[in-house]
Amino acid sequence: VAKRANSGLALYDERHDDNGAERLSLMSELRQAVEHDQLMLYYQPKVDLATHTVKFVEALVRWDHPTRGYVSPDQFIPFAEQTGYIKAISHWVAEQAIRQCAAWRAEGIELAVSVNVSARELIQSSLPDTFSALLKKYGVPAEMLWIEITESAIMDDPNHAIQTLDRLHALGIRLAIDDFGTGYSSLSYLKRMPVDELKIDKSFVMGMVLHRDDETIVRSTIDLAHNMGLKVVAEGVESEFVMRRLAELRCDLAQGFHLSRPLPPSKLEDWLREWRCVNGV
Ligand code: C2E
Ligand code: CA
Ligand code: CA
Ligand code: CA
Repeated sequence: VAKRANSGLALYDERHDDNGAERLSLMSELRQAVEHDQLMLYYQPKVDLATHTVKFVEALVRWDHPTRGYVSPDQFIPFAEQTGYIKAISHWVAEQAIRQCAAWRAEGIELAVSVNVSARELIQSSLPDTFSALLKKYGVPAEMLWIEITESAIMDDPNHAIQTLDRLHALGIRLAIDDFGTGYSSLSYLKRMPVDELKIDKSFVMGMVLHRDDETIVRSTIDLAHNMGLKVVAEGVESEFVMRRLAELRCDLAQGFHLSRPLPPSKLEDWLREWRCVNGV
């Protein structure tokens, strides 16, 4: 069967939520995806704007569907969250990412890997044990694992979320707040949470070129992060111009298509070699 691009294809659309048959079929396809190795992890580097070194990558899941072609996580993660199947997917993601981190270390490539954790997973009290067992299994120090969570995931059930985050942090796992600035979180929660890093949402970063307001938000977030002793990452960096501006504003790390798209592991290794060669790091 010929693969087709997923542009315009709504694999899952909340407006059609009442279509039980479709949900059932998607559910079983998702189960097969995990069982039949149709999921893949791609990795996108985060570049240190002061030193140009690369010590961090974000793991992003992809679904190589046999007939629908390449399916983006935005099209199946929300569905998986609603149906509870997110648990199987995130276990797969965590194991894959930690195993990859171990494989890179064995080759002398030190890359801390971050994985995205959704609201549904965050309130599971078993999450810290799952991560801890996987880190032990592959002999990876907890400091090499980062977790990215959105503000809205935390605000779903803040007390529960903070409990889980505290336990993860106690293990040595680092925490980043994803899509910062888009949610409804209050700054008082930020103070109560064991956060290490803020990720400025790509909508503000991409808007910096055209809108003064967006640059103001970016600048304020960088200041806020630094005043709280946190690192700050800008995602969605699509041009040299934005990267330079972020460096001027003392943003710590940059991630985006201008630097590299998310890549499969071997392609990322190629990219890294070339990057180090060109930048002398
Ligand atoms: P996110 O965590 O905010 O990830 C950033 C998204 O922006 C990724 O889309 C990435 O490919 C894309 N991106 C990176 N650089 C640029 C850029 O310069 N310009 C633009 N326009 N986009 C850029 P992707 O991979 O399609 O992932 C979408 C979302 O799906 C993620 O948003 C995350 O919320 C979720 N997701 C991905 N993988 C996982 C996973 O393993 N588990 C969970 N729970 N969610 C995941
Ligand atoms: Ca993320
Ligand atoms: Ca994000
Ligand atoms: Ca997002």
